Amino acid sequence: MADPKGFLTTGREVAKTRPAGERVKDWNEVYVPGSLLPIISKQAGRCMDCGIPFCHNGCPLGNLIPEWNDYAYREDWAAASERLHATNNFPEFTGRLCPAPCESACVLGINQPAVTIKNVEVSIIDKAWGNGDVTPQPPERLSGKTVAVIGSGPAGLAAAQQLTRAGHTVAVYERADRIGGLLRYGIPEFKMEKVHINRRIEQMRAEGTKFRTEVEIGRDIDAAKLRRRYDAVVIAAGATVSRDLPVPGRELNGIHFAMEYLPLANKVQEGDLTVSPITAEGKHVVVIGGGDTGADCVGTAHRQGAASVTQLEIMPKPGEERNANQPWPTFPMLYKVTSAHEEGGERVYSVSTTHFEGDEDGNVQFLHLVEVEFKDGKLEQKPGTERKIPAQLVTLAMGFTGTDQANGLVQQFGLELDARGNIARDGQYATNVDGVFVAGDAGRGQSLIVWAIAEGRSAARGVDRFLTGASELPAPVKPTDRALTV
Ligand SMILES: Cc1cc2nc3c(=O)[nH]c(=O)nc-3n(C[C@H](O)[C@H](O)[C@H](O)COP(=O)(O)OP(=O)(O)OC[C@H]3O[C@@H](n4cnc5c(N)ncnc54)[C@H](O)[C@@H]3O)c2cc1C
Ligand code: SF4
Repeated sequence: MADPKGFLTTGREVAKTRPAGERVKDWNEVYVPGSLLPIISKQAGRCMDCGIPFCHNGCPLGNLIPEWNDYAYREDWAAASERLHATNNFPEFTGRLCPAPCESACVLGINQPAVTIKNVEVSIIDKAWGNGDVTPQPPERLSGKTVAVIGSGPAGLAAAQQLTRAGHTVAVYERADRIGGLLRYGIPEFKMEKVHINRRIEQMRAEGTKFRTEVEIGRDIDAAKLRRRYDAVVIAAGATVSRDLPVPGRELNGIHFAMEYLPLANKVQEGDLTVSPITAEGKHVVVIGGGDTGADCVGTAHRQGAASVTQLEIMPKPGEERNANQPWPTFPMLYKVTSAHEEGGERVYSVSTTHFEGDEDGNVQFLHLVEVEFKDGKLEQKPGTERKIPAQLVTLAMGFTGTDQANGLVQQFGLELDARGNIARDGQYATNVDGVFVAGDAGRGQSLIVWAIAEGRSAARGVDRFLTGASELPAPVKPTDRALTV
C-alpha cells in the first residue's frame, strides 16, 4: 500500500490548466506543462489499495491501478511503467483522453473525492518516455503467419502491436494519409498533441509492424485479394458514418458534419494547410450535439476566432451529482465542464432544430429551434417556444451510425451485422467469416478510446489462437465483462 494515511492527509489535486484567455490563442495542450510531477506521488499515495479494487472493474482494460499507484508513490517510475503497460499499450492516449470510469468506481469516491487515477497514469507514461523506458519490443522469433489490420485508430494499433509482438507479420492498412484514426483527425491538438501518436508509431515500426496509408480496403484492394494475401484479418475500421439532420435548409452552405470540420483544423496543425477551408473566424457558430465531439468543435471554433459559439443539446441538462439510478460504482452521466466549455460559449439544453434559414447566396444565416420536453417517455415540442439564433457556421455532432459500407468492405467480406448495425462478433472477436476478426467502434459502435484499446488487445488474442492454436496474449475482455462503463 502506497501511504496508509495518504487518503486522510492529502486532498485531491488535479492537473492545472493554463488560463483560458491564454490557451485559446494557441493549439497546444491546455495543461500547464510540468505541473503534475511535483504533486503526483502524494496523489498516488491517496490510493487505499482496497482488497477489492473496484477501479480495476471500472477500467475496460482492467488496469492494475493500485499496483502502479504504489510505484508512483515510491517514484519507481520504471516499475510503474512496466505495470501500466501490462494492460495498456497506449497509456499516453488514455491518460489524456479517457473519461476515467475508473475514478467513478474508486472506493474512496464513496465519501471523498476519488484518487486522480488518470493524472497518475499520464504522469507515469510521460516520465517513462522522458527516461527512455519505452523501447521497441520486437518478437524473439517469427511465426511465419501474416495478419492485415484494417484501420489505424486505437483498436487497430493495439491489435497490431500485440500481434507483432507475438511474432506475426502485421500490416496496418489506413485509408487516410496519416496513421491514428480519430486520434489523428478527430481529436484536436489542444486535447492531445500528435507527437504522442508519432512516437508510438516509431516504436511499432521498430518492432516490425508495417503501415500502408492511403489504401482503402474494399476500394483499392478488395476483400478477396486481402484474404489471399494474409492468414487473418482484423477489421478496426471504426464507426465513421456521421448521423445527419434532415431538416429544411440542410443543403445550405456552412452546415457541416463535425468530422468534416475537425479534420481540416487538424490538417492545419499538421502543416498541410495554412488556413482551414471551413473556418469559424468572425462567425456565429452553432454546434448541434452536446457530447465530446461537440465540445471539440467548440474548442476549435474558439481558437479560430468565432464571434460566438452556441452548443445545442436535445436532452435536458444532466445533474451535477449522482442520482439514485446511477449509484457508485457505475459511470454516471453528469454535467461536465470540459476545457472547451471553460473557454466560453453558451450551452442550451432541451432544444431541437426545426430548420435553417439562408441568404440569397445560399449561405446559412439562422438556425430555428424549439424547446422540447419529455411527456410520457416521448420527446415533444413545447408550443410557443420557437425562436431563431444567428448561425453562419453549423457543425453536426450528433453521433455516428456505424461502419462505412460505401467502400464495399462489409459486403465483400460477407460480414453479418448485429441489431444495431455494427459488425457482429463472438466472445473471441471473431466475425461470421473464418479468420476475420473485428475490434473497436466497428464492432461496438462509437465508443471510447479505452474500449478500442481493450478490444484491439482482445481481438489479437483471438487471432493468435486462430493462427497457432493457443495464445499467451492476455485473455479477452468480453464486451459485457466490465459493465461499469458506457
Ligand atoms: C471528435 C471526436 C472526439 C472524441 N473524443 C474522445 C475522447 O476525448 N475520449 C475518448 O475516449 N473517446 C473519444 N472519441 C471516441 C474515440 O475516438 C473512438 O471511440 C475511437 O477512436 C475508436 O477507435 P477505433 O480504432 O475503433 O476507430 P477509429 O479511431 O475511428 O479508426 C478507424 C480507422 O479506420 C480507417 N478506415 C475505415 N475504413 C477503412 C477501410 N475500408 N480501409 C482502410 N482504412 C479504413 C479510418 O480512416 C480510421 O482511421 C471521440 C470521437 C470523436 C469523433
Ligand atoms: S484507461 Fe481510463 S479507465 Fe483505465 S485507468 Fe486509465 S483513465 Fe482509468
